[in-house]
Amino acid sequence: MGTVTDLVREDLRGFAGYGSARSEKLEGEVWLNANESAWANACDTGDACRRYPEPQPLDLAAALARLYGCAPEQLLIGRGSDEAIDLLVRALCVPGRDAVLVSPPVFGMYAVSARLQCAPLLEVPLIDGVDGFAPDLPALAEAALAGSARLVFLCSPGNPTGNAVALDDIATLARRLRGRALLVVDEAYGEFSSQPSAIGLLDEHDNLGVLRTLSKAHALAGARIGVLAAHPSMIAVLRRCQAPYPVPSPCAALALAALGPDALARTAAHVARVRSERERMRAALANAPGVLRVYPSEGNFLLVRFADAARAFADLRSAGIVGGDQRAAAGLGSAVRITIGTPAENRRVLQALGQGAPP
Ligand code: PMP
Repeated sequence: MGTVTDLVREDLRGFAGYGSARSEKLEGEVWLNANESAWANACDTGDACRRYPEPQPLDLAAALARLYGCAPEQLLIGRGSDEAIDLLVRALCVPGRDAVLVSPPVFGMYAVSARLQCAPLLEVPLIDGVDGFAPDLPALAEAALAGSARLVFLCSPGNPTGNAVALDDIATLARRLRGRALLVVDEAYGEFSSQPSAIGLLDEHDNLGVLRTLSKAHALAGARIGVLAAHPSMIAVLRRCQAPYPVPSPCAALALAALGPDALARTAAHVARVRSERERMRAALANAPGVLRVYPSEGNFLLVRFADAARAFADLRSAGIVGGDQRAAAGLGSAVRITIGTPAENRRVLQALGQGAPP
């Protein structure tokens, strides 16, 4: 069996990428090597942005590694996990040959990135069972192996379905795909889940990758900071394929501050609140008129099936509330995905749907 970088496109395995002004290890006092301005912008009072940033800020990488329980060499920091998804598809899939496998209904960016790369898209739908949605793991493995998938994306907790995949099942699938495909577990909503992170499996499975983001639980969607955790050799290849300066300095500084102990404690309190509101809303929505089913959720949202989803969506809209319309998603024609808001916002949702405030 080869190494995990055998899964990278042949033409990119030895690719050195762009040698940026910050990636070369140079020392000096007067920096005149990158055509930066000698003066700060009048609006940049802290002189934070005159210089190009470090490609992968060391202090932020160390803080993220501590947060996620891995080594900094196992992390690629990008402009949201969206960038990591796109980089993976570009670096691993030869256009027209290597497929991307997904389990719909699921977050749309895997398919978008596959389309942009001209990578065939394979789909094995989630099973809508009594306990909620779940991936058909044996069918996923078979489809991946039969269809030359280089990348298999599992979203856990799933967006928009809310289901989490058990670590044992992830490990089994990774083992079956070893040497053939990289299994990428998207944990964008991991903080809201009772399931432990698949990052704990990385040391045993070199063909596993885990996506995390500061956009959801850490409330920094606008800062665009997400990571891929994977084998260091895979991370090294992807860094060479990434844009020269993917982490803007103000975003890195904000993210670093958000990973300090006080900010983390507040984030944890917000996550706990979302989880308890989620369960309260789940019970209350189940009794709302026209609601057929509220799926269990490990995320910061609930997927709700209505007798008339268009009407529910319109009722929410006329109360000034924008729900996540799922009617275009395969198998979700009757569903709306509702993010958990503040308690006051959640009360408004219930009122708009003809249900009083939760007890
Ligand atoms: N994965 C999932 C499952 C998501 O729902 C989202 C955002 N909606 C992302 C990844 C992308 O997150 P970001 O790029 O902000 O890190």
